[in-house]
Amino acid sequence: MSTAYKHTPLTPIIVPWVNEIIRNKQLIQEAIEQHHSPINIHHLRSFEENITAFKAVFQKYELKHQVFFARKANKAISFVKSAKEIGAGVDTASFRELDQALKEGIPPHHIVLTAAVKNNRLIELAIKNQIPITIDNIDECNLIHEICEELDTQTPIIVRVSGFDFMGQKMPSRFGFDIDLAKELISQTLPSRYPRFNYLGLHFHLNGYSIPQRGEALLQCIALSDLLRAQRIETQIIDIGGGYLINYLSSRQEWDSFLAELKSAVLYQRTPITYDRDPLGMTILDGRIYGEPAVYPYYNEVNKAQFLEEILIYKNKDGVPIHELIHDREIELRIEPGRSTLDQAGITVAKVAFRKPDTNGELLIGLEMNRTQLRSSSADFLLDPIHLPTTEGSEEEYYGYLVGAYCLEQEFILKRKIKFNTFPQIGDLIVFVNTAGYMMHFYESEAHLFELAKNLIYNQDLQQLIED
Ligand SMILES: *Cc1c(COP(=O)(O)O)cnc(C)c1O
Repeated sequence: MSTAYKHTPLTPIIVPWVNEIIRNKQLIQEAIEQHHSPINIHHLRSFEENITAFKAVFQKYELKHQVFFARKANKAISFVKSAKEIGAGVDTASFRELDQALKEGIPPHHIVLTAAVKNNRLIELAIKNQIPITIDNIDECNLIHEICEELDTQTPIIVRVSGFDFMGQKMPSRFGFDIDLAKELISQTLPSRYPRFNYLGLHFHLNGYSIPQRGEALLQCIALSDLLRAQRIETQIIDIGGGYLINYLSSRQEWDSFLAELKSAVLYQRTPITYDRDPLGMTILDGRIYGEPAVYPYYNEVNKAQFLEEILIYKNKDGVPIHELIHDREIELRIEPGRSTLDQAGITVAKVAFRKPDTNGELLIGLEMNRTQLRSSSADFLLDPIHLPTTEGSEEEYYGYLVGAYCLEQEFILKRKIKFNTFPQIGDLIVFVNTAGYMMHFYESEAHLFELAKNLIYNQDLQQLIED
């Protein structure tokens, strides 16, 4: 099955705790015996370091600030506990997320509720605990205000805004209130129709990963806060949401070359590098490619804390950096990072169940796992997995595809063709690194009644894996 094949590697960044645990094969194998394949292994210290690094940027510019971990990026409760320990906040988006944060003892001023859809039960829980609610539409305002009246109380609210001007065009969004209408909303509608709301500040969360777009949005929020202040309405906080890039890959050259080779492959100019020449979201028409691959940008030189710093040093038209404008106004700046707090905070490990050729003779490696257990909105997870052989085999290269347990033709764990340095054996382990942010949990499902993957925490000092 070995063929001469021009492979396009995507070598992931691997951090010391991952190298350490994959050398401890017995620990992983015992965990898989006990909990069944696959397992998710989390590392809390990495999470804490990521948050601390964000905080250091705010401290450098002496800004009032708070980091709210966007819980939706990973379900493990241990991260909420960690956030509490280091004094970080939690961004919650559902009843259970909020309920769990409260039960863990996160103080109410360290919680925010940003749920896209809010029902009675959720709003009641938030109001009873005086959790700031990010408001998105008038129907929601009516419901929140009704519940305030029933409970005979006030509630802190944050106004989600969108529709920012960027290079002369409005940035479209389905979320929040139009920035152009927000002044009237906050200065007139809220005080007259919703007297039980205590306006705390502004919030936005932008799609994509543009620093200038975030800079411009923030400048427009600052300008709005100035207009409101002239009417004696104080904007105490501005929350600029999430979307801080992380860097998964060790080589820019590999990333560039992968994108180029993918384009050649889908145009039949070379051998396939994805299954059935999957274009990963590009459109191919009459031998031409339209669009770009619908994948996360896995290689990023500016990432995490540095990405935040680039937003803070973004300048207004007069050349004044944002951090100065925020500092002068004594506004508390908030962020809601999800993915970036989880950089290098988790890996997923699955067991090889079978090897077979498909009808075209391609090598398929079946894993005890399904594709929802390694899935985000990206069309593929573009990192080479690590193969941990259980027995000594002869060193010979093999190329194949990882397939999973759901009974669908499209059930591929990864669409990319993967290189193995020795022929995979039944019981070998495949390790996917850096999966804690969205990859493990966001789309996981229980079709066929397969159980969800077990979430374990790596205790480095004790060399143990503990249940979340
Ligand atoms: C998804 C989301 C986040 C987190 O985004 P990341 O890209 O994971 O950093 C933060 N705030 C809101 C409102 C979100 O919807």
